[in-house]
Amino acid sequence: MTSLPALSLVFAAVAAPQSVADLERHFADFLDAHGAQETIDSGLLEQVDGRDRKTWHRIREDEVAAVAAGLAHLEARRLVPEDARLVRAMRTTFDELAGSGSMAPSRKCADGASTKLGVDALEEALYACFDEVGNHIRFEGREVTRSGALQMLQEIGEPKRRQALFLAMEPLWRAVDGDGNAASPYRRLISQVAADPRGAETSTAGVASVLGVEAAVLERWLVDVLEAWRKVNPAGKSLVEPWDFRHRYARASHAVNGAIPRESLEALNARFARDLGADSRALGIRYDLAPRPGKAPIAYADAMRIGRLEKGAWRPAIARVSANYDRGGLYTINELVHETGHAVHIAAVRTRPAYFWPDTLFMEAFADVPSWSVFDPAWQQKYLGRAAPRADALREQFALVMLDVAWGLFEVRMLRDPNANPNAVWTHITQTYLGIAPHPEWSWWAVRAQLVGNPGYMLNYAAGAILTADLRARTREAIGPFDAGNPRWYGWLSENLLKYGSSIEAPELLRQFLGRPVSPEALIAEIESLR
Ligand SMILES: [Zn+2]
Repeated sequence: MTSLPALSLVFAAVAAPQSVADLERHFADFLDAHGAQETIDSGLLEQVDGRDRKTWHRIREDEVAAVAAGLAHLEARRLVPEDARLVRAMRTTFDELAGSGSMAPSRKCADGASTKLGVDALEEALYACFDEVGNHIRFEGREVTRSGALQMLQEIGEPKRRQALFLAMEPLWRAVDGDGNAASPYRRLISQVAADPRGAETSTAGVASVLGVEAAVLERWLVDVLEAWRKVNPAGKSLVEPWDFRHRYARASHAVNGAIPRESLEALNARFARDLGADSRALGIRYDLAPRPGKAPIAYADAMRIGRLEKGAWRPAIARVSANYDRGGLYTINELVHETGHAVHIAAVRTRPAYFWPDTLFMEAFADVPSWSVFDPAWQQKYLGRAAPRADALREQFALVMLDVAWGLFEVRMLRDPNANPNAVWTHITQTYLGIAPHPEWSWWAVRAQLVGNPGYMLNYAAGAILTADLRARTREAIGPFDAGNPRWYGWLSENLLKYGSSIEAPELLRQFLGRPVSPEALIAEIESLR
């Protein structure tokens, strides 16, 4: 990073910005300071742009005060529609980030036992469980991370060992859901969230609105997608045990994981991105992939600084990716390419600061546009020198997608009826659509940090899968296949989809891009191709 953000107003006393333009300058400085502080807190760097944490923290505090004052001032005024929309956009992002907003755990897992915690504190405590407990799963005399364990459930050949590993996750289930009774930490959390939704990106109606549909339509789409899967994978005589599900559908991993060692992940990822015209080195993307205690327990991408105009020239955003990889494999490269999808999206945005951050659902859906490619035989042949049969690869890909859709539907139902027993809700969904044997005695759904760190967020993955299939189909139609690279990919997508941030409302942007409204047909057709 070379240039410094504009800081001229930072050390002045806080006076409420009077105009939208004035507010937006402070808002941009806030986003830059937030990105810098988060980068330092993530453990990636000690300084950003020559400033240490203390300095960035002070800048951030000042900008939080200025933006809060400016928003309050302008929200009380009658504004022309475009200004009102700008203020609304800044308000949404600001509310999300101004608190802690941090990805690194800021509380202790044990705090979750306290019945006195409000929503935010309870979310933070339960999220910390995914670091303290979830990333220290004891199995066969050693410790594995949660994402490592989920991948090992695909790989381990012996059912007894898979069962043992599955049950080794019980401490995490307990940390999240206690004894599963009404006083469980998760049930206390979800009832508070349902009573006071966290925001548009985590409510069923909010997520549905990004696709331009009503909540009930989105829920039906999720069920339709799961139904399509059920039809091509009928349960037959026997249900599959939950510790066997990932293994049953992991034949592609079994075929190619030997060609994806841990050490190869970054180079594979970089090569594919380059072949898509999105050279991650040229875009300045930073990767921090080794496990480390206290690090965010999930993989994520974020902006170290936003893209913005400076003295008439565009200063691009810089993105970073954080993860905890202790093993390679198809599962991991899929996730890493997903995070890279976020990073190149962030780098492609060319819009004013108020609209810098796109809708969450749209971001999650786009990140899977490149990541689904790793299941394609053409990708595997080119980058690994061997390929699993297409049907095996698609089954594995969609088995993982179906779990996300199942979690999304789980959240829709828990948010609608927070007094429901989550184990019963999860058992019903997984037995009906995925053919998984019922185990209502276990809270085995509790292995995704988003469920507690940001309740409602899994819906973005579930609905995102519908959009991903649509975006991939449209992109293929426009520029040809891209699963094994296509130099037009990044330029064409940047120009037609990514550069806008949230400056165009998502349903309109998607309609413009697709030439029609979003529909689940593309995803359902792909699933049905497995017949
Ligand atoms: Zn993501």
